[in-house]
Amino acid sequence: MRKPFVCGNWKMNTDRRGAAALAQGAARAAEQARGVEVGVCPPACYVEAVVAAARGTPLAVGGQNMHFEASGAFTGEVAGPMLKELGCRYAILGHSERRHVFGETDEFISRKVHAAFKFGLLPILCVGEKLQERQAGRTEAVVHRHVTSGLAGLTGDQARQVVIAYEPVWAIGTGLTATPQQAQDVHAFIRGCLESLYDAALAGDVRIQYGGSVKPDNTFDLMRQADIDGLLVGGASLKAEGFSAIVAESARAKEV
Ligand code: PEP
Repeated sequence: MRKPFVCGNWKMNTDRRGAAALAQGAARAAEQARGVEVGVCPPACYVEAVVAAARGTPLAVGGQNMHFEASGAFTGEVAGPMLKELGCRYAILGHSERRHVFGETDEFISRKVHAAFKFGLLPILCVGEKLQERQAGRTEAVVHRHVTSGLAGLTGDQARQVVIAYEPVWAIGTGLTATPQQAQDVHAFIRGCLESLYDAALAGDVRIQYGGSVKPDNTFDLMRQADIDGLLVGGASLKAEGFSAIVAESARAKEV
């Protein structure tokens, strides 16, 4: 049984006080959510404050990115052991902004996925096509490449613990959400990729989140889809009330 996982990605937003307040709201939502795991990924400089606010609650904390080396001359980067020491459980890897704004390659992201396991973190591996790729009928080819390269070389035990976030680039921060059916189709395709790479049992265990302009009012229909096991939420995770509503709607969708 896959436990639904709703995670906020705050990107380069909030300040220290706002981060702590948002974390308290998310922690309350995590305590109230029936059967839904809740997490937040604050900017690296606020991880410590967020972990402190989450202490004693089920709220999970993650980094938004990490380098694959443990330390060294990588100005501006954050290492896995640093996130781990601060109390992170997850690391978002291969987010489309990392791929397309900062030029991260599949190979680079694969090294980070391996590093995450090495340093005791669980990857939230983001995959998804750009608008031109969808329009050219290349969605499955792009997603297949992201999934196979992102999981390359992982043992079954590791792959089972990866959270895959399907985030169509054209839906991120644009207000355009994939329809529940569009998202379900790609999620089912990803599960098929997992089955070919590993086996059906493993494919059935991996949690696949949807991300891209998720809001309280589209959560229920997305989360009703059989292969949507959670959400990666950007903009709407920056308001405590909205994020709590997304968590509550997710719980309701999986309960009905
Ligand atoms: C994201 O950045 O992962 C994301 C899904 O953003 P938004 O919800 O704002 O589209």
